[in-house]
Amino acid sequence: MTVPHASAAQNLDDVNPVVERLQDSLDDARRTGESIGLLLVHAAAIDRIDALHGFDAGDRMSGNVALLLRSKALRRRDLLDPLSRDEFACVLRPASSEGIAMLAANRVMSLLAPAMSFSGRSVTPDAAVGIAMFPEQASDASGLLQRAKHALHVARNHRDRIWLYTPPAGDSGGIDQLEYENRLRAAIDQNNLTMHFQPQLDIRTGRVGGAEALLRWHDDVLGPVPANIAIKTAESAGLIDQLTMWVITSAIQSCHEFQKIDPDFTVSINISPSNLRETDLPFYVDRALRTWNVKGHSIIIEITETAMMVDKTAAHEALRQLKALGVRLSVDDFGTGYSSMQYLAQLPLDELKIDLSFVKAMLEAPQNAKIVRSLIELAHNLDLKVVAEGVESQAILEALTDLGCDQAQGYDVGRPTTVANLLAQLSKQKNAH
Ligand code: C2E
Ligand code: MG
Ligand code: MG
Repeated sequence: MTVPHASAAQNLDDVNPVVERLQDSLDDARRTGESIGLLLVHAAAIDRIDALHGFDAGDRMSGNVALLLRSKALRRRDLLDPLSRDEFACVLRPASSEGIAMLAANRVMSLLAPAMSFSGRSVTPDAAVGIAMFPEQASDASGLLQRAKHALHVARNHRDRIWLYTPPAGDSGGIDQLEYENRLRAAIDQNNLTMHFQPQLDIRTGRVGGAEALLRWHDDVLGPVPANIAIKTAESAGLIDQLTMWVITSAIQSCHEFQKIDPDFTVSINISPSNLRETDLPFYVDRALRTWNVKGHSIIIEITETAMMVDKTAAHEALRQLKALGVRLSVDDFGTGYSSMQYLAQLPLDELKIDLSFVKAMLEAPQNAKIVRSLIELAHNLDLKVVAEGVESQAILEALTDLGCDQAQGYDVGRPTTVANLLAQLSKQKNAH
């Protein structure tokens, strides 16, 4: 397969033949009543390799990526069409649901996670995938490509590096993305955001010993905006670092309040992968810890496994600096990403959080129970604490207790709530003992 030797396509004119071929696929699908999924795969490392090692090396990586996609990610009827040397259109013919397209995207990411060797150096392709669906999200090829591009742009900054196109900022009811971004900017400036805290149960002691800080944005016009949409808006508006600094300060201030009741109380804080490229993150954490007189080991920073695999050098350095402050590190949504165990084992981690999709369904689906059991064993073998998310019933809690899980988080333990409510709950718990 040959890959056109052209710079990244900037506009649709550059990709006209691709648009035409894609339109042919859409026309076929319309006739047969099938749906099509378009995955736009971008390998950011190719540009860097061009600059550092020359175009020949960049060509080799481009060829390797295309080969892997063609031979291992796509099915017989699917099409691979490079838009440029670092951007590849994968046309899934058919993709009966968004779930199928997501599965394919996950497969692409796991194939492109390992490093490739060039003249004695190992480089990861640094991939991201944007997804758009036909006919649900666009009625023609250029519209579909444009939506996949939009999704890719979001995916680049998203913690999982995969994004399925959604109309800007979710179902905006006529309000465009810019409006979302402006309202979020104002909410940050005017301190109109809040943090809720979801209790975490220490299974051994039966006490709530920590909480996860979760962002809440209630806008006068938009109403309550889901946390992941707020984060996505912050990422696309370039506000994510500012927002994360606010989250860190607010969460550590609340930790100080919780520790007045329980001095060992811990607070977990989510961060985005783009925050790990922000070298100031450890500095802000340190400043907030000093301001509120909170010890580093009271704070747990949560990152997804995908985020850790991306831009490893920068991520590793930021994690090392956080560890130097005594802060603990946790892998969020564990089991859904595509981490290399070898790499994970090298990181200074303290905790794994098992993704709620496995935990919620563990009693109905034996497969999920097996996964949960294996993840608990894996965590313990690596000397990591393990937290199960999505504990929605007493029966699940009992099963996790039998499996030796350390902590439980979920609606059965407690829903995310205000600082005041959690303080009241902690006082009650203290008085009961
Ligand atoms: P996450 O970090 O995995 O957080 C857990 C999510 O699962 C929360 O949704 C929580 O409300 C929900 N959850 C907790 N227990 C249960 C349960 O038993 N059943 C079910 N079905 N759901 C449960 P939320 O608050 O909407 O947050 C969604 C995601 O948004 C978070 O996933 C995290 O990735 C992101 N996020 C939230 N706050 C922040 C933040 O301050 N910064 C960053 N970077 N991301 C955040
Ligand atoms: Mg989390
Ligand atoms: Mg999670």
